[in-house]
Amino acid sequence: MLALFMKYDIVIVGAGISGATLAERFANTLQKKVLIIEKRDHIGGNCFDYYNTDGILVSKYGAHLFHTSYKDIWEYVQRFSQWIPYKHKVLAKVDGKLVPVPVNITTVNLLFNLSLKTEKEMIEWLSKNRINIKDPKNSKEAALASVGEALYKKIFENYTKKQWEKDPEELDAEVLNRIPVRTTFEEGYFSDTYQAQPKDGYTKLFENMLTNKNITIKLNTDYFAIKDSLQFDMLFYTGPIDQFFSYNTGEKLEYRSLKFVEETLDMEYFQENSVINYPNEEKFTRIVEYKHITGQKHPKTTIVKEYPSSVGEPYYPIPSKRNKEIYEKYKKEALALEKQQIYFVGRLANYKYFNMDQAFKNALDLFAYLMENKHIK
Ligand code: FAD
Ligand code: UDP
Repeated sequence: MLALFMKYDIVIVGAGISGATLAERFANTLQKKVLIIEKRDHIGGNCFDYYNTDGILVSKYGAHLFHTSYKDIWEYVQRFSQWIPYKHKVLAKVDGKLVPVPVNITTVNLLFNLSLKTEKEMIEWLSKNRINIKDPKNSKEAALASVGEALYKKIFENYTKKQWEKDPEELDAEVLNRIPVRTTFEEGYFSDTYQAQPKDGYTKLFENMLTNKNITIKLNTDYFAIKDSLQFDMLFYTGPIDQFFSYNTGEKLEYRSLKFVEETLDMEYFQENSVINYPNEEKFTRIVEYKHITGQKHPKTTIVKEYPSSVGEPYYPIPSKRNKEIYEKYKKEALALEKQQIYFVGRLANYKYFNMDQAFKNALDLFAYLMENKHIK
Protein backbone atom coordinates (compact mmCIF):
# COMPACT_ATOMS: atom_id res chain seq x y z
CA MET A 1 0.00 0.00 0.00
CA LEU A 2 1.41 3.33 -1.03
CA ALA A 3 1.95 5.79 1.77
CA LEU A 4 -0.07 8.69 0.44
CA PHE A 5 0.60 10.58 3.65
CA MET A 6 4.23 10.76 2.69
CA LYS A 7 5.29 14.22 1.62
CA TYR A 8 6.01 14.63 -2.09
CA ASP A 9 7.70 17.64 -3.66
CA ILE A 10 5.27 17.56 -6.54
CA VAL A 11 1.77 16.09 -6.80
CA ILE A 12 0.25 15.82 -10.26
CA VAL A 13 -3.39 14.98 -10.95
CA GLY A 14 -3.64 13.08 -14.23
CA ALA A 15 -1.18 10.89 -16.15
CA GLY A 16 -1.90 12.28 -19.64
CA ILE A 17 0.47 14.38 -21.75
CA SER A 18 0.32 17.32 -19.33
CA GLY A 19 0.93 15.29 -16.19
CA ALA A 20 3.59 13.01 -17.70
CA THR A 21 5.52 15.97 -19.15
CA LEU A 22 5.65 17.81 -15.84
CA ALA A 23 6.52 14.63 -13.92
CA GLU A 24 9.34 13.85 -16.31
CA ARG A 25 10.74 17.41 -16.15
CA PHE A 26 10.63 17.67 -12.34
CA ALA A 27 12.10 14.20 -11.77
CA ASN A 28 14.70 14.16 -14.53
CA THR A 29 16.00 17.70 -14.34
CA LEU A 30 15.47 18.62 -10.67
CA GLN A 31 15.45 15.20 -8.98
CA LYS A 32 12.12 16.02 -7.32
CA LYS A 33 9.94 13.36 -5.71
CA VAL A 34 6.78 13.24 -7.79
CA LEU A 35 3.43 11.57 -7.14
CA ILE A 36 0.99 11.18 -10.04
CA ILE A 37 -2.61 10.45 -9.13
CA GLU A 38 -4.68 8.98 -11.97
CA LYS A 39 -8.30 7.94 -11.66
CA ARG A 40 -8.20 5.59 -14.65
CA ASP A 41 -6.46 2.21 -14.59
CA HIS A 42 -3.76 3.31 -17.03
CA ILE A 43 -1.35 6.11 -17.90
CA GLY A 44 -1.43 8.13 -21.14
CA GLY A 45 -4.70 10.03 -20.66
CA ASN A 46 -6.70 10.15 -23.86
CA CYS A 47 -3.70 9.00 -25.92
CA PHE A 48 -3.71 5.55 -24.29
CA ASP A 49 -3.43 2.62 -26.73
CA TYR A 50 -3.28 -1.12 -26.16
CA TYR A 51 -3.49 -4.49 -27.92
CA ASN A 52 -7.08 -5.77 -27.91
CA THR A 53 -8.00 -9.43 -27.40
CA ASP A 54 -7.35 -10.12 -31.10
CA GLY A 55 -3.86 -8.63 -30.82
CA ILE A 56 -4.59 -5.45 -32.79
CA LEU A 57 -3.17 -2.14 -31.52
CA VAL A 58 -6.10 0.20 -30.87
CA SER A 59 -6.59 3.55 -29.15
CA LYS A 60 -9.03 3.48 -26.27
CA TYR A 61 -10.15 7.08 -26.83
CA GLY A 62 -10.08 7.46 -30.60
CA ALA A 63 -7.30 7.67 -33.16
CA HIS A 64 -4.43 9.98 -32.22
CA LEU A 65 -2.34 11.49 -35.01
CA PHE A 66 0.69 13.52 -34.02
CA HIS A 67 1.39 16.71 -35.95
CA THR A 68 3.26 19.86 -35.03
CA SER A 69 5.13 22.80 -36.47
CA TYR A 70 6.93 23.48 -33.17
CA LYS A 71 10.49 22.28 -33.73
CA ASP A 72 11.19 22.16 -29.97
CA ILE A 73 8.15 19.95 -29.33
CA TRP A 74 9.15 17.64 -32.18
CA GLU A 75 12.64 17.35 -30.66
CA TYR A 76 11.21 16.82 -27.18
CA VAL A 77 8.91 13.90 -28.14
CA GLN A 78 11.76 12.14 -29.91
CA ARG A 79 13.48 11.59 -26.58
CA PHE A 80 10.84 9.05 -25.63
CA SER A 81 10.14 7.12 -28.83
CA GLN A 82 11.22 6.48 -32.34
CA TRP A 83 8.75 8.02 -34.77
CA ILE A 84 7.51 6.75 -38.12
CA PRO A 85 6.55 9.41 -40.66
CA TYR A 86 2.80 9.24 -41.20
CA LYS A 87 0.76 11.63 -43.29
CA HIS A 88 -2.89 11.51 -42.33
CA LYS A 89 -5.64 11.59 -44.95
CA VAL A 90 -9.40 11.68 -44.43
CA LEU A 91 -12.25 10.83 -46.79
CA ALA A 92 -15.90 11.71 -46.28
CA LYS A 93 -18.94 9.88 -47.63
CA VAL A 94 -21.04 12.57 -49.29
CA ASP A 95 -23.78 12.06 -51.92
CA GLY A 96 -22.73 8.41 -52.08
CA LYS A 97 -19.14 9.33 -53.02
CA LEU A 98 -15.89 9.23 -51.07
CA VAL A 99 -14.36 12.69 -51.23
CA PRO A 100 -11.20 14.17 -49.68
CA VAL A 101 -11.43 16.38 -46.57
CA PRO A 102 -10.07 19.08 -46.32
CA VAL A 103 -11.78 20.19 -49.49
CA ASN A 104 -9.37 20.10 -52.46
CA ILE A 105 -9.76 20.09 -56.25
CA THR A 106 -10.86 16.43 -56.25
CA THR A 107 -13.60 17.16 -53.68
CA VAL A 108 -15.07 19.93 -55.82
CA ASN A 109 -14.80 17.90 -59.04
CA LEU A 110 -16.51 14.86 -57.51
CA LEU A 111 -19.31 16.74 -55.78
CA PHE A 112 -20.14 19.18 -58.58
CA ASN A 113 -19.23 17.07 -61.65
CA LEU A 114 -16.50 19.47 -62.68
CA SER A 115 -13.06 18.92 -64.12
CA LEU A 116 -10.95 21.64 -62.55
CA LYS A 117 -7.29 20.96 -63.21
CA THR A 118 -5.22 23.83 -61.93
CA GLU A 119 -4.81 25.82 -58.76
CA LYS A 120 -5.91 28.91 -60.68
CA GLU A 121 -9.22 27.25 -61.63
CA MET A 122 -9.77 26.15 -58.03
CA ILE A 123 -9.10 29.64 -56.69
CA GLU A 124 -11.59 31.01 -59.23
CA TRP A 125 -14.18 28.42 -58.21
CA LEU A 126 -13.69 29.25 -54.54
CA SER A 127 -13.90 32.98 -55.12
CA LYS A 128 -17.28 32.50 -56.87
CA ASN A 129 -18.59 30.32 -54.05
CA ARG A 130 -17.11 31.80 -50.91
CA ILE A 131 -19.11 34.33 -48.98
CA ASN A 132 -17.25 37.50 -48.25
CA ILE A 133 -17.12 37.63 -44.44
CA LYS A 134 -14.12 39.60 -43.22
CA ASP A 135 -13.92 38.52 -39.62
CA PRO A 136 -15.95 35.32 -39.10
CA LYS A 137 -17.55 35.39 -35.67
CA ASN A 138 -18.65 31.77 -35.45
CA SER A 139 -18.07 28.41 -37.10
CA LYS A 140 -20.83 28.83 -39.69
CA GLU A 141 -19.33 32.12 -40.85
CA ALA A 142 -15.85 30.56 -40.82
CA ALA A 143 -16.97 27.75 -43.17
CA LEU A 144 -18.98 30.04 -45.44
CA ALA A 145 -15.97 32.32 -45.77
CA SER A 146 -13.64 29.43 -46.48
CA VAL A 147 -15.61 27.03 -48.77
CA GLY A 148 -19.01 28.63 -49.41
CA GLU A 149 -22.58 27.49 -48.77
CA ALA A 150 -22.80 24.36 -50.95
CA LEU A 151 -19.77 22.64 -49.40
CA TYR A 152 -20.73 23.88 -45.94
CA LYS A 153 -24.07 22.11 -46.29
CA LYS A 154 -22.64 18.90 -47.73
CA ILE A 155 -19.61 18.40 -45.44
CA PHE A 156 -19.69 20.64 -42.38
CA GLU A 157 -23.14 21.64 -41.21
CA ASN A 158 -24.59 18.27 -40.21
CA TYR A 159 -21.31 16.77 -39.01
CA THR A 160 -20.88 19.74 -36.69
CA LYS A 161 -24.46 19.51 -35.40
CA LYS A 162 -23.94 15.80 -34.68
CA GLN A 163 -20.53 16.23 -33.09
CA TRP A 164 -21.38 19.17 -30.85
CA GLU A 165 -25.20 19.10 -30.60
CA LYS A 166 -25.01 22.78 -31.41
CA ASP A 167 -25.64 24.83 -34.48
CA PRO A 168 -22.29 25.92 -36.02
CA GLU A 169 -23.42 29.50 -35.35
CA GLU A 170 -23.17 28.79 -31.61
CA LEU A 171 -19.56 27.61 -31.86
CA ASP A 172 -16.52 29.85 -32.00
CA ALA A 173 -14.87 30.14 -35.42
CA GLU A 174 -11.90 28.13 -34.10
CA VAL A 175 -13.82 24.82 -34.43
CA LEU A 176 -14.37 24.92 -38.20
CA ASN A 177 -11.17 26.89 -38.72
CA ARG A 178 -9.37 23.67 -37.74
CA ILE A 179 -10.15 22.36 -41.23
CA PRO A 180 -8.29 24.28 -43.96
CA VAL A 181 -9.17 24.37 -47.65
CA ARG A 182 -6.70 23.23 -50.30
CA THR A 183 -6.42 24.94 -53.66
CA THR A 184 -4.52 21.99 -55.18
CA PHE A 185 -4.87 18.18 -55.22
CA GLU A 186 -3.05 18.05 -51.82
CA GLU A 187 -4.74 15.41 -49.64
CA GLY A 188 -3.05 15.83 -46.25
CA TYR A 189 -5.41 16.43 -43.30
CA PHE A 190 -2.85 18.50 -41.42
CA SER A 191 -0.56 21.26 -42.67
CA ASP A 192 2.17 20.90 -40.01
CA THR A 193 5.88 20.46 -40.70
CA TYR A 194 6.26 17.31 -38.59
CA GLN A 195 3.73 14.47 -38.88
CA ALA A 196 4.54 11.06 -37.44
CA GLN A 197 3.39 8.24 -35.16
CA PRO A 198 5.33 6.72 -32.24
CA LYS A 199 6.83 3.45 -33.46
CA ASP A 200 5.67 1.34 -30.51
CA GLY A 201 2.49 3.25 -29.75
CA TYR A 202 1.59 6.08 -27.38
CA THR A 203 1.43 4.07 -24.15
CA LYS A 204 5.03 2.95 -24.63
CA LEU A 205 6.03 6.59 -25.12
CA PHE A 206 4.42 7.47 -21.77
CA GLU A 207 6.14 4.52 -20.08
CA ASN A 208 9.44 5.88 -21.38
CA MET A 209 8.63 9.33 -20.04
CA LEU A 210 7.89 8.00 -16.56
CA THR A 211 10.81 5.65 -15.85
CA ASN A 212 12.51 7.81 -13.19
CA LYS A 213 12.44 6.07 -9.81
CA ASN A 214 11.45 9.35 -8.21
CA ILE A 215 8.10 9.18 -10.00
CA THR A 216 5.37 7.25 -8.19
CA ILE A 217 2.13 6.59 -10.06
CA LYS A 218 -1.07 5.83 -8.19
CA LEU A 219 -3.71 4.53 -10.64
CA ASN A 220 -7.43 4.00 -9.93
CA THR A 221 -7.39 6.95 -7.55
CA ASP A 222 -9.58 10.02 -7.72
CA TYR A 223 -7.79 13.11 -6.48
CA PHE A 224 -10.95 14.45 -4.85
CA ALA A 225 -11.27 11.29 -2.73
CA ILE A 226 -7.79 11.64 -1.22
CA LYS A 227 -6.92 15.31 -1.48
CA ASP A 228 -6.99 15.97 2.24
CA SER A 229 -4.32 13.34 2.83
CA LEU A 230 -1.81 14.88 0.44
CA GLN A 231 1.23 16.94 1.38
CA PHE A 232 3.22 18.70 -1.33
CA ASP A 233 5.18 21.78 -2.27
CA MET A 234 3.46 22.12 -5.64
CA LEU A 235 0.26 20.68 -7.11
CA PHE A 236 -0.52 20.42 -10.82
CA TYR A 237 -4.12 19.65 -11.76
CA THR A 238 -4.97 18.43 -15.29
CA GLY A 239 -8.66 17.47 -14.86
CA PRO A 240 -11.75 19.56 -15.73
CA ILE A 241 -11.33 23.00 -14.18
CA ASP A 242 -14.95 23.40 -13.05
CA GLN A 243 -14.79 20.11 -11.14
CA PHE A 244 -11.97 21.53 -9.03
CA PHE A 245 -14.11 24.47 -7.93
CA SER A 246 -17.53 22.85 -7.96
CA TYR A 247 -17.82 23.01 -4.17
CA ASN A 248 -18.46 26.76 -4.32
CA THR A 249 -20.46 27.27 -7.48
CA GLY A 250 -23.20 25.57 -9.44
CA GLU A 251 -21.93 26.75 -12.82
CA LYS A 252 -20.85 23.84 -14.95
CA LEU A 253 -18.86 23.97 -18.13
CA GLU A 254 -20.15 21.88 -21.02
CA TYR A 255 -18.07 19.02 -22.43
CA ARG A 256 -18.67 16.74 -25.37
CA SER A 257 -18.16 13.02 -25.10
CA LEU A 258 -18.00 10.13 -27.55
CA LYS A 259 -19.04 6.51 -27.44
CA PHE A 260 -16.52 4.33 -29.20
CA VAL A 261 -18.13 1.22 -30.68
CA GLU A 262 -15.39 -1.23 -31.60
CA GLU A 263 -15.73 -4.25 -33.89
CA THR A 264 -13.10 -6.74 -35.01
CA LEU A 265 -13.83 -8.22 -38.40
CA ASP A 266 -12.56 -11.37 -40.06
CA MET A 267 -11.07 -9.57 -43.06
CA GLU A 268 -7.75 -7.90 -43.71
CA TYR A 269 -9.15 -4.40 -44.32
CA PHE A 270 -12.67 -2.98 -43.96
CA GLN A 271 -12.29 0.38 -45.71
CA GLU A 272 -9.83 2.01 -48.07
CA ASN A 273 -8.63 4.70 -45.68
CA SER A 274 -7.78 5.08 -41.98
CA VAL A 275 -10.65 7.50 -41.35
CA ILE A 276 -13.90 7.89 -43.26
CA ASN A 277 -16.22 10.66 -42.10
CA TYR A 278 -19.99 10.38 -42.31
CA PRO A 279 -21.19 13.98 -42.17
CA ASN A 280 -24.88 13.40 -42.90
CA GLU A 281 -27.34 10.52 -42.42
CA GLU A 282 -25.55 8.20 -39.99
CA LYS A 283 -25.63 8.71 -36.21
CA PHE A 284 -21.87 8.25 -35.98
CA THR A 285 -19.42 10.86 -37.28
CA ARG A 286 -16.57 8.67 -38.46
CA ILE A 287 -15.18 5.16 -38.79
CA VAL A 288 -11.54 4.64 -37.90
CA GLU A 289 -9.58 1.57 -39.02
CA TYR A 290 -6.40 1.48 -36.96
CA LYS A 291 -4.26 -0.82 -39.10
CA HIS A 292 -4.05 1.87 -41.78
CA ILE A 293 -2.40 4.14 -39.19
CA THR A 294 -0.16 1.70 -37.34
CA GLY A 295 0.84 -0.31 -40.40
CA GLN A 296 0.27 -3.47 -38.35
CA LYS A 297 -0.04 -6.68 -40.39
CA HIS A 298 -2.86 -8.91 -39.14
CA PRO A 299 -5.41 -11.18 -40.86
CA LYS A 300 -8.24 -9.43 -38.97
CA THR A 301 -9.01 -5.74 -38.61
CA THR A 302 -10.54 -3.56 -35.88
CA ILE A 303 -12.78 -0.62 -36.71
CA VAL A 304 -14.33 1.94 -34.38
CA LYS A 305 -17.43 4.04 -34.95
CA GLU A 306 -17.56 7.33 -33.01
CA TYR A 307 -20.98 8.34 -31.69
CA PRO A 308 -21.05 11.84 -30.17
CA SER A 309 -22.73 12.06 -26.77
CA SER A 310 -23.50 14.58 -24.06
CA VAL A 311 -22.91 12.00 -21.33
CA GLY A 312 -19.70 10.17 -20.57
CA GLU A 313 -16.05 11.14 -20.14
CA PRO A 314 -15.41 14.83 -20.88
CA TYR A 315 -13.32 14.63 -24.07
CA TYR A 316 -13.91 18.00 -25.70
CA PRO A 317 -14.31 21.48 -24.22
CA ILE A 318 -17.11 23.14 -26.20
CA PRO A 319 -15.85 26.50 -27.51
CA SER A 320 -18.95 28.70 -27.20
CA LYS A 321 -19.45 32.20 -25.83
CA ARG A 322 -21.25 30.97 -22.72
CA ASN A 323 -18.57 28.42 -21.86
CA LYS A 324 -15.76 30.89 -22.42
CA GLU A 325 -17.40 33.35 -20.03
CA ILE A 326 -17.76 30.71 -17.32
CA TYR A 327 -14.19 29.53 -17.90
CA GLU A 328 -12.86 33.07 -17.43
CA LYS A 329 -14.41 33.13 -13.94
CA TYR A 330 -12.78 29.83 -13.04
CA LYS A 331 -9.50 31.00 -14.51
CA LYS A 332 -9.45 33.90 -12.04
CA GLU A 333 -9.93 31.46 -9.16
CA ALA A 334 -7.24 29.22 -10.59
CA LEU A 335 -4.74 32.09 -10.91
CA ALA A 336 -5.37 33.06 -7.29
CA LEU A 337 -4.25 29.57 -6.23
CA GLU A 338 -0.82 30.05 -7.79
CA LYS A 339 0.18 31.75 -4.53
CA GLN A 340 -0.32 28.35 -2.90
CA GLN A 341 1.70 26.69 -5.68
CA ILE A 342 -1.37 25.10 -7.31
CA TYR A 343 -1.39 25.18 -11.13
CA PHE A 344 -3.89 24.20 -13.83
CA VAL A 345 -2.46 22.52 -16.91
CA GLY A 346 -3.75 20.86 -20.09
CA ARG A 347 -6.84 20.55 -22.26
CA LEU A 348 -9.50 20.22 -19.57
CA ALA A 349 -7.90 22.48 -16.95
CA ASN A 350 -7.41 25.26 -19.52
CA TYR A 351 -10.69 24.42 -21.24
CA LYS A 352 -8.92 24.66 -24.61
CA TYR A 353 -9.27 22.45 -27.69
CA PHE A 354 -5.56 21.49 -27.52
CA ASN A 355 -3.99 19.06 -29.95
CA MET A 356 -1.28 16.82 -28.48
CA ASP A 357 1.55 19.16 -29.42
CA GLN A 358 -0.23 22.08 -27.77
CA ALA A 359 -0.65 20.00 -24.61
CA PHE A 360 3.09 19.18 -24.58
CA LYS A 361 3.86 22.85 -25.17
CA ASN A 362 1.50 24.08 -22.47
CA ALA A 363 3.21 21.86 -19.86
CA LEU A 364 6.75 22.64 -21.04
CA ASP A 365 6.03 26.38 -21.13
CA LEU A 366 4.69 26.26 -17.59
CA PHE A 367 7.77 24.37 -16.40
CA ALA A 368 10.06 26.90 -18.11
CA TYR A 369 8.11 29.79 -16.58
CA LEU A 370 8.37 28.32 -13.08
CA MET A 371 12.11 27.77 -13.53
CA GLU A 372 12.76 31.26 -14.89
CA ASN A 373 10.77 32.94 -12.17
CA LYS A 374 12.30 30.81 -9.43
CA HIS A 375 8.92 29.55 -8.24
CA ILE A 376 10.37 26.12 -7.54
CA LYS A 377 11.83 25.49 -4.09
P1 FAD B 1 -5.90 14.16 -20.77
O1 FAD B 1 -5.32 13.26 -21.79
O2 FAD B 1 -7.39 14.32 -20.72
O3 FAD B 1 -5.37 13.68 -19.36
C1 FAD B 1 -5.95 14.09 -18.13
C2 FAD B 1 -5.88 12.92 -17.18
O4 FAD B 1 -6.32 13.36 -15.88
C3 FAD B 1 -6.80 11.77 -17.57
O5 FAD B 1 -6.06 10.58 -17.64
C4 FAD B 1 -7.84 11.73 -16.46
O6 FAD B 1 -8.29 10.42 -16.15
C5 FAD B 1 -7.08 12.33 -15.29
N1 FAD B 1 -7.95 12.93 -14.28
C6 FAD B 1 -8.93 13.84 -14.47
N2 FAD B 1 -9.54 14.13 -13.29
C7 FAD B 1 -8.92 13.39 -12.34
C8 FAD B 1 -9.09 13.23 -10.95
N3 FAD B 1 -10.05 13.89 -10.28
N4 FAD B 1 -8.29 12.39 -10.27
C9 FAD B 1 -7.32 11.68 -10.93
N5 FAD B 1 -7.12 11.78 -12.26
C10 FAD B 1 -7.91 12.62 -12.96
N6 FAD B 1 -4.67 15.46 -30.56
C11 FAD B 1 -3.85 15.41 -31.64
O7 FAD B 1 -2.83 16.11 -31.69
N7 FAD B 1 -4.12 14.56 -32.69
C12 FAD B 1 -5.20 13.75 -32.70
O8 FAD B 1 -5.41 13.00 -33.67
C13 FAD B 1 -6.09 13.80 -31.58
N8 FAD B 1 -7.19 13.02 -31.57
C14 FAD B 1 -8.05 13.10 -30.51
C15 FAD B 1 -9.19 12.31 -30.53
C16 FAD B 1 -10.08 12.37 -29.46
C17 FAD B 1 -11.34 11.55 -29.51
C18 FAD B 1 -9.80 13.21 -28.35
C19 FAD B 1 -10.75 13.28 -27.18
C20 FAD B 1 -8.67 13.99 -28.32
C21 FAD B 1 -7.77 13.95 -29.40
N9 FAD B 1 -6.61 14.71 -29.42
C22 FAD B 1 -5.78 14.69 -30.50
C23 FAD B 1 -6.27 15.64 -28.29
C24 FAD B 1 -5.38 14.96 -27.23
O9 FAD B 1 -6.04 13.82 -26.74
C25 FAD B 1 -5.14 15.97 -26.10
O10 FAD B 1 -4.50 17.13 -26.58
C26 FAD B 1 -4.27 15.42 -24.98
O11 FAD B 1 -4.61 14.10 -24.63
C27 FAD B 1 -4.39 16.33 -23.77
O12 FAD B 1 -3.60 15.84 -22.71
P2 FAD B 1 -3.93 16.26 -21.21
O13 FAD B 1 -2.87 15.64 -20.37
O14 FAD B 1 -4.11 17.72 -21.12
O15 FAD B 1 -5.36 15.64 -20.90
N1 UDP C 1 -15.79 18.76 -39.36
C1 UDP C 1 -16.89 18.64 -40.21
N2 UDP C 1 -16.84 17.71 -41.20
C2 UDP C 1 -15.77 16.89 -41.39
C3 UDP C 1 -14.67 17.03 -40.52
C4 UDP C 1 -14.72 17.95 -39.50
O1 UDP C 1 -17.87 19.35 -40.04
O2 UDP C 1 -15.79 16.06 -42.30
C5 UDP C 1 -15.86 19.80 -38.30
C6 UDP C 1 -16.57 19.29 -37.04
O3 UDP C 1 -17.26 20.36 -36.44
C7 UDP C 1 -15.41 18.83 -36.20
C8 UDP C 1 -14.39 19.92 -36.49
O4 UDP C 1 -14.55 20.18 -37.89
O5 UDP C 1 -15.76 18.74 -34.84
C9 UDP C 1 -12.97 19.58 -36.18
O6 UDP C 1 -12.60 18.40 -36.86
P1 UDP C 1 -11.40 17.50 -36.34
O7 UDP C 1 -11.21 16.38 -37.31
O8 UDP C 1 -10.24 18.37 -36.05
O9 UDP C 1 -12.02 16.93 -34.99
P2 UDP C 1 -11.40 16.01 -33.83
O10 UDP C 1 -10.40 15.08 -34.49
O11 UDP C 1 -10.79 16.96 -32.83
O12 UDP C 1 -12.59 15.29 -33.29
